This record gives sequence, structure tokens and C-alpha cells, in this order.
Amino acid sequence: MVDRIETRVVHAGEPEPRIEGSVRMPIFQSAMFEYSGETESETLAYIRLNNTPNQTVLGRKLADLEGGDAALVCASGMSAISSTLFTLLAPGDHLMVQDCLYGGTHDLLTRDLPRLGIELSRIDSSDPGSWEAALRPQTKAIYVETISNPLMHVCELEAIAEFARSRGLVSLVDNTFASPINFRPFEWGFDVSLHSATKYLNGHSDIVAGVVIGSAEQVEQIRHTANRFGGTLDPHTCFLLHRGLATLALRVGRQNSNALALARFLEQNPAVARVSYPGLESHPQHALASRLLDGFGGMLNVELEGGLESARAFMRRIRIPVKAPSLGGVESLVTRPATTSHAGMSPEERARAGIGDGLIRISVGIEAIEDLTADFGQALAG
Ligand SMILES: *Cc1c(COP(=O)(O)O)cnc(C)c1O
Repeated sequence: MVDRIETRVVHAGEPEPRIEGSVRMPIFQSAMFEYSGETESETLAYIRLNNTPNQTVLGRKLADLEGGDAALVCASGMSAISSTLFTLLAPGDHLMVQDCLYGGTHDLLTRDLPRLGIELSRIDSSDPGSWEAALRPQTKAIYVETISNPLMHVCELEAIAEFARSRGLVSLVDNTFASPINFRPFEWGFDVSLHSATKYLNGHSDIVAGVVIGSAEQVEQIRHTANRFGGTLDPHTCFLLHRGLATLALRVGRQNSNALALARFLEQNPAVARVSYPGLESHPQHALASRLLDGFGGMLNVELEGGLESARAFMRRIRIPVKAPSLGGVESLVTRPATTSHAGMSPEERARAGIGDGLIRISVGIEAIEDLTADFGQALAG
């Protein structure tokens, strides 16, 4: 019998028997571990080699939650992403990527891969015709995000995984925005799932961590790359991530319902020009999102009537959400992508990408929904 994910976030992957009976996984704060007699270097346990107890227990739990064979925890989401891409790709290879990706990933792809002779093509993740056109004999892999930032575009996930399989490509998805509560990539045919565990997996805005999940063989290869690059998660941070994970289903369930209620509330407000949230019938990929996702997530964004001036006034008046970047924590956060995550783009580039000056990105937390709607209502009335 397979338990439901709400049960598995608590119990899956825990040591059996429990270590000294300890109900919670103890922190093994030791850089290296003693062995008896001669041993293969492969079996040496050392924190940088990603094979000490806190790292391996966490890997078992995360692999179980997404239904992958194995998982590796890394020092950050970018460490997971870079270790994976540098394992899969070699000079001369070609990679197909979704056109709008997380900024750090975009920078890695455009600054570091070309120097190594790896070529890129951008594809429209909603237009299968563009995928065939981008395919080359050298194409090795295809890389997408479950829900893109900041416009909340939902990718044709099942079709992308199927396309990759039929063309012999490795399919990779950054599943950070959905978390395994809302989307499990292996059930839809993906080969590799990546996360910034900094966000929903940990959920308390107090650590930076990453995860890569895939087949045992793939994860083992990626672990060797990560061992050489050195982006390892230390045991104490593993402990914090492990603790955060225990409440993942509760938190994300609440964030799903809060975000849907807030999106519906904002859609009715005359000061709001547009709300982007995959759970709204007005979202262009609502039908697709309803089929693929178990919940629509905690991220949404609004474009205010009156552009820049209204956005500034809103940011001054809003009281409960913290004005900070990042996402996925228990507290609601608001940012203006034009001045934070996408400030590096020119105003014309932003306009082309659909990121107006009046765009506000919201990471919805676990607060009482009545307090959030009241606060957004008063901030918009100003
Ligand atoms: C934050 C984020 C990352 C990078 O993760 P870090 O933990 O900050 O390295 C990658 N992808 C997405 C979608 C993110 O939101």
C-alpha cells in the first residue's frame, strides 16, 4: 500500500530503525566518518561527497515525494541546476530551453554554456511546432519550468516530456513553483526534476538549498559532478530543510487556497487591470493547468490600472505582506519585478516580455485569508 503524499512528507525515507530511538533525524555534524580497515574511496563518507547521513536521508525522502528513484540535495537551487547541466552536456551539444526562465538559470545558460561550446535554442513551450523547428542532430536535452516567473505561464508539460522521449532527448523541469504537492514530473514522463528548496520545500525563508531528482544512475553521475564543484549542503541546513518538509503538504495546501481566494478577490477590484493565476478561468492555460496540477500554487501577479504611480502607491499602503523578493515562505511577499528580479532588462524588453511597470508579483503565505483580502482591498482603494 502506498501512503498519500501528506503522510509521506512526514514519514517517507526516515531511518529504520530510528537512530538511538530519536524521533527526529539527529544532526551528524561531522565532516568525515571513521571506517574500519581498508576500504574503497567510493565508500568514504565526507560532507562534500554528499554521502553523510543527513544528506542521504533527505535524498530518500525527496525522491519518494516526487516518485523518482534517487535525489541529491545541493547547496542551492543554482548548484542543483548547474551540476545537472554540466553533467548532461558536453562541448558541441545543443540544448532547447523555454523562452522565459528564472533569471539565475537564464544567466547560467547565456553566460556559462556558450563559453563551453554548448549551443542553445529558445522555444515557445506552448507551441509544439517551434520544438520540431529547433531540433538539431546535436540536441541533447530540453529544459522547462512548471510555471514560469513572473507571468505564470503553464508549460505544455506532458507534450514536452513526450516530445523529448520520442526524439531521444533528456527532459528536465524546474518544479520549484509547483512543489511535489501540486505537480510530480515523473508521473508525466520527465527524466529529471530540479528544485530551489529555498522556496516551498523548506518554506520558512531561512535557508538556501537545492534538489535534483531522477534515475539512480543519473543522480549518481550528477553527484560526482556536484562533488567536484563542491556545492554541498551542510548537515545543519539539511536538518532545517528536513524539518520544513514535514509541513510541506499543510503549507502548500493553504497557499493554494489562499492564492485562489486572493486571485478571485483581486479580479473583482476595479483598480486591477489583470490578474495572472492559473487557477482563474481567465488564465490562458487554465484548462491545461487543471489537468496537470493538483493545485495552482501560491504565486500570482496583478497589473494595476494606472501603471507605475498606482504600483508605487500600492506598495506604500500594503501592510501585511513583506516587500521582499523570493517566494514560497509562510509569510506573504510582494515585489515589483520591474524594479527587482527584472530590473536588468530595458523597459522595451520588459514591455515585450509582458512585464509592465504596474506589475506586482505576490507570493501568498499562510496568513488568514480575511486579513489578506482586507489589506489588499485597503491598499488598492488608496
Ligand atoms: C529561486 C529559484 C531558483 C534558484 O534557486 P536558489 O536556491 O536561489 O539557488 C531556480 N529556479 C527557480 C524557479 C527559482 O524560483
